[in-house]
Amino acid sequence: MYKTLIIGNGIAGVSCARWLRKNTDDEIQMVSQESEYFFSRTALMYVYMGHMRWQDLEPYERSFWAKNKIDLLQGKVLSIDYELKIAYLENEKTLAFDRLVLALGSKSNKFGWPGEDLEGVSGFYSKQDLEYIEQKSNNIKRAVIVGGGLIGIELAEMFHSRKIPVTILVRESEYWSSVLPPEEAAMISKHIRKNEIDLRLNCQLQSILGDQGQVNAIVTDQQEHIPCEFVGITAGVRPNIDLVKGSQLSTDKGILVDEYLQTNIPNVYAIGDCAQLTNVSKGRKAIEAIWYSGRQMGETLAANLSGNTKSYNPGIWFNSAKFFDIEYQVYGYVPSKIVAPFDSIYWEDPAGEKSIRLVYDLSNHQISGFNLMGVRFRHEVCEKWISQNSSIQEVLAKIRMAFFDPEFYPDYSSGILDAYFQKTGKKIIPKSSGKLNAVLNFLKS
Ligand SMILES: Cc1cc2nc3c(=O)[nH]c(=O)nc-3n(C[C@H](O)[C@H](O)[C@H](O)COP(=O)(O)OP(=O)(O)OC[C@H]3O[C@@H](n4cnc5c(N)ncnc54)[C@H](O)[C@@H]3O)c2cc1C
Repeated sequence: MYKTLIIGNGIAGVSCARWLRKNTDDEIQMVSQESEYFFSRTALMYVYMGHMRWQDLEPYERSFWAKNKIDLLQGKVLSIDYELKIAYLENEKTLAFDRLVLALGSKSNKFGWPGEDLEGVSGFYSKQDLEYIEQKSNNIKRAVIVGGGLIGIELAEMFHSRKIPVTILVRESEYWSSVLPPEEAAMISKHIRKNEIDLRLNCQLQSILGDQGQVNAIVTDQQEHIPCEFVGITAGVRPNIDLVKGSQLSTDKGILVDEYLQTNIPNVYAIGDCAQLTNVSKGRKAIEAIWYSGRQMGETLAANLSGNTKSYNPGIWFNSAKFFDIEYQVYGYVPSKIVAPFDSIYWEDPAGEKSIRLVYDLSNHQISGFNLMGVRFRHEVCEKWISQNSSIQEVLAKIRMAFFDPEFYPDYSSGILDAYFQKTGKKIIPKSSGKLNAVLNFLKS
């Protein structure tokens, strides 16, 4: 029986702990500085907006951990002795281990802007960030958010829900255009403005100004002076590896791990946002700071620690998010710039708040990805089409199967079929009604 110490109780650490408990009788201890209990980081915004209480963010009853013999401790680990196998905490507490799992997560990027350490300047990542933003909110007449991504837009929506005017500075020419293809990025920019957010494109932060230690304005690279009482820094995240930097553990941007999530030190592993894979699967990235990857890494590592050796195989890329009222889903390969040998079919509804994009390889007509705004597709159906290399024609003929709950939602299939016709001059005859039975049969086949 091993004693496994997990540092970090986010989705990666918790998934590892839960699966390790299912598979073994190991002693499991999980320590985290942010909170004693696991919570859903992706739902932090809903607490601020009053849609959820803090306890609603905790997916497990608090009794779950003791019942499952997972020992929880809140505290900051300051250093690790890998030879003696001891972690040292800030209150002089020590934790011994046989095996160590580093699940340290991310931290908000900062770029050394003048004034970035003033009162009223914060990232939005942790429970403490949320508490800080809450505490400042009564005195904010305008908030400026720096950086356009998934976290920036959440912060904008949070302030908007409290009628706090928001300016967002985005370096690119459309919102999140480093990830979204041009039409979708333009759609989101428009939608943000429709929600009364002052979105500044092609605009960068130059400096943050303050008075008596408190932020009172920012200056853009166009020398515009924007008065504000809060600056949200949401220019991406990076692996939070402060704890292990400068030690004998190999790091680059993140903690380097092989496909078994093993670091260069025996019995020391890294998972989730802080891990950087040295052997990257096709179409995936070495560091993926997303929920689903953390969960899968946690499960994979637990299998390895239980003796069922398994390499980390993230499979087909999937992500989902929300830009105010527009839901976003992506399956498979959808680059921001679609160039040969890839091409795409794109449909957008006349109101400009829904779209479907199918990306395919022109050389063999195989589907490679789906990008959806305001329309929900069935995850399993899209995955199956991509994994079995279905042709774009085959996918389009059965596209109704992809629509989530077509019996209750409008059917947009004619729009995307028409877009294909406009592009290629070829008509596709629909071959499936999209009824649930047909979908289930397809998934079983
Ligand atoms: C506002 C927001 C919205 C998001 N929305 C989405 C989304 O819609 N979809 C999506 O896929 N992803 C989303 N993400 C990203 C996703 O939440 C993260 O990828 C995921 O939570 C990372 O999980 P993790 O277990 O790797 O790390 P974390 O959840 O960051 O957990 C790491 C923990 O380790 C602790 N820790 C670090 N160092 C130490 C130390 N020295 N001692 C003790 N404890 C330590 C940290 O305090 C932290 O609690 C969002 C993130 C944020 C911030």
